[in-house]
Amino acid sequence: MDKTSTTLSPPSAPREFGFYVDGKSIPAGQRDLFERSSPGHGVPVTRIPKCTTEDLDQAVAAARMAFEDRRWSGLNGADRAAVLLRAGALIRERAEEIAYFETLENGKPISQARGEVGGCADMFEYASGLARSLHGDSFNNLGDGMFGLVTREPVGVCGLITPWNFPFLILCERVPYILASGCTLVVKPSEVTSATTLILAEIMTDAGLPSGCMNVVTGSGRSIGQALIEHQDIDMVSFTGSTAVGRAVVEASAKSNFKKLGLELGGKNPQIVFADADLEDAADGVAFGIAFNTGQCCVSGSRLIVERSVADKFALMVKHKLEKARVGDPLDEATHIGAITTDAQNSVIMSYIEKGQAEGATLICGGEQLDFGMGQYISPTIFGDVTPDMAIASEEIFGPVLTVMPFDTVHEAIDIANDTEYGLAASVWTKNIDKALTVTRRVQAGRFWVNTTLAGGPELPLGGMKQSGWGREAGMYGVEEYTQVKSVHIEIGKRSHWIE
Ligand code: NDP
Repeated sequence: MDKTSTTLSPPSAPREFGFYVDGKSIPAGQRDLFERSSPGHGVPVTRIPKCTTEDLDQAVAAARMAFEDRRWSGLNGADRAAVLLRAGALIRERAEEIAYFETLENGKPISQARGEVGGCADMFEYASGLARSLHGDSFNNLGDGMFGLVTREPVGVCGLITPWNFPFLILCERVPYILASGCTLVVKPSEVTSATTLILAEIMTDAGLPSGCMNVVTGSGRSIGQALIEHQDIDMVSFTGSTAVGRAVVEASAKSNFKKLGLELGGKNPQIVFADADLEDAADGVAFGIAFNTGQCCVSGSRLIVERSVADKFALMVKHKLEKARVGDPLDEATHIGAITTDAQNSVIMSYIEKGQAEGATLICGGEQLDFGMGQYISPTIFGDVTPDMAIASEEIFGPVLTVMPFDTVHEAIDIANDTEYGLAASVWTKNIDKALTVTRRVQAGRFWVNTTLAGGPELPLGGMKQSGWGREAGMYGVEEYTQVKSVHIEIGKRSHWIE
């Protein structure tokens, strides 16, 4: 990698990684290797071991030992904070390497990957403070004879399953919060995007995290992921991915040890645009909301619900924005929209584009598989004349495909927005405070944006309503998810006897 050039190139040979257990990288040895090709370039970029279930058992045993002997949870919060802060600094030091592998394995633009890596360092820096401020509660109102405490304790050994769309960002929206709580963990990244998770494991050791506190097993979801969710010695699983696998996670918890769950699943997120909005701002936001990360984003704003009086004009404004976005080589600094991450996802998106046309929606722009002589790319797509019964209107496509539906009243806009099994995110664009607040209150979504979209950061929690998931990640709410509370009643003085 030439760090000084403005357009990087893929590596001449794939980099081989080991998996990570008990503070050490373990080479693949006799295990099979998964070779990942860059979706933007079509050349091999990484090789990752396919772990066995024995490897998983070893990783869980290391995490269990590290939890039970209290080498991490028994530390002062200030000492845990110091490790997390050092990790943030090391992420910044290795930012270029992380962004490079993130782009190679995922296909996202390098400029975007760099921004995400900076945000990830910030997650660690913020969560370090939470390691110190996490606390319980006290009850000084139980009378002179009794004092009550509620203490927070780490849940134990956490399993973390992360997807391929934001391999490093989603990881860092969870790991520092899990560690701030005092838990230890075993991570299973998506097989196609494991490299940056393995880099983070090295960083954590270098930052002073005791061995065994963060372990990484690699391999496919069907084998190693399934074994993880069924494992009897994992106390909690945080899963981010499809609703279908989310159901399998709930089932596995019930069939194993009732492990606690955090689930961040799909979304079909509304962008509600009123005629009184700053339409230039809104058009830019709606274009960004559907094309960012090629729409492979659980919170992407894939349903444009726009006031009828401006609907046609506004759809054209979004089209003009999208036509100006540069689709192409993810390693080119000027690229806005990179490659589709997997062949399977590429086929899913193209099949929805065909379905939309077959169902009678009008293609306003895009809809094409772009041929750059390398990788897989799809032009950002807008469909008009969409009705609620169409698959493109109700199912999560996870690609750069926007549907447009007009409305006449605030209540109709709210009804259309809520007409989905999902409740992950929503945006509203208006200069009228009454409309903004009414829509914010009435639309069911775990994340809400007013006159912006996809804003985030370490402070505010993430998560969904309805079938978009359970629990919250990030912020103080995120740390608390990885704790359980204990109620303590303390008698003061002599206890009044049951039998005199
Ligand atoms: P999956 O739900 O299959 O993958 C998400 C994660 O779960 C990956 O780490 C995967 O591993 C793992 N996994 C897969 N099967 C199992 C299993 N049986 N037990 C435990 N872990 C498992 O999503 P897909 O990659 O198939 O994408 C399908 C759709 O899911 C997308 O089109 C999109 O709609 C949605 N999705 C939503 C995401 C979100 O952020 N909410 C993220 C990704 C997908 P591996 O990849 O190695 O198989």
